[in-house]
Amino acid sequence: MDKFETYCQLIVNTSKDLTAKGFLSATGGNLSVRIPTDRAFAITPSNYDYLKMIPSDICVLDMDLVSLACSRQPSVESAMHAAIYKVRPDVNAIIHTHQVYPSTLALIGKPIPALFDEQVRFLGRSVDIIPYAPSGTGMLMNTVTRKVKNHNNAYIMANHGALLFGGDMERAVHNASVLEKCALAYLLTLCSAQKASQIPLVVREIAFSKLRKDQKKHAQAN
Ligand SMILES: [Zn+2]
Repeated sequence: MDKFETYCQLIVNTSKDLTAKGFLSATGGNLSVRIPTDRAFAITPSNYDYLKMIPSDICVLDMDLVSLACSRQPSVESAMHAAIYKVRPDVNAIIHTHQVYPSTLALIGKPIPALFDEQVRFLGRSVDIIPYAPSGTGMLMNTVTRKVKNHNNAYIMANHGALLFGGDMERAVHNASVLEKCALAYLLTLCSAQKASQIPLVVREIAFSKLRKDQKKHAQAN
């Protein structure tokens, strides 16, 4: 396990941080980090309380889901995480949460358009809705894989929750906070029955090009 200790510790620390921020609770959601040297990733175990978690509870799987170090059952969404790492070489960390405001948009099927500069800079041109499929199924894995090819770093999973990517874990956590703020602001705007104004197209494209530059740098390193 020693070889993967740093990655497992990162998953434990981030799980507790996301719980403290209110983005994860009890056993809902999951997160992983890519281990580029071993074509593998470290992921949270299935159905295990984040606050009890220690590094030896974290599962390490290769991209074909063969266990390299697992004392517990890995997350039921492990296949989805592996599929994302395969189609998105720029992604080194994945967080799936059931955070409240994006989950509310997930119920009314409202994607978030380009509302703020920082949103596009970190999350992409829009936060799109991934059509519903039951958790842990090949159907969800395929639906997600198709959708994430548009280079955005945040998605809303219909009737489920949120999906965040980052070139590193710190950025993925930051993206969860940006998404929460945008989802709340957009929900309040929808409640006001006023039309949400969007940032100018040219500004959106400049912000998105900065995100793409980051992504290309991470993709090249993998
Ligand atoms: Zn979930």
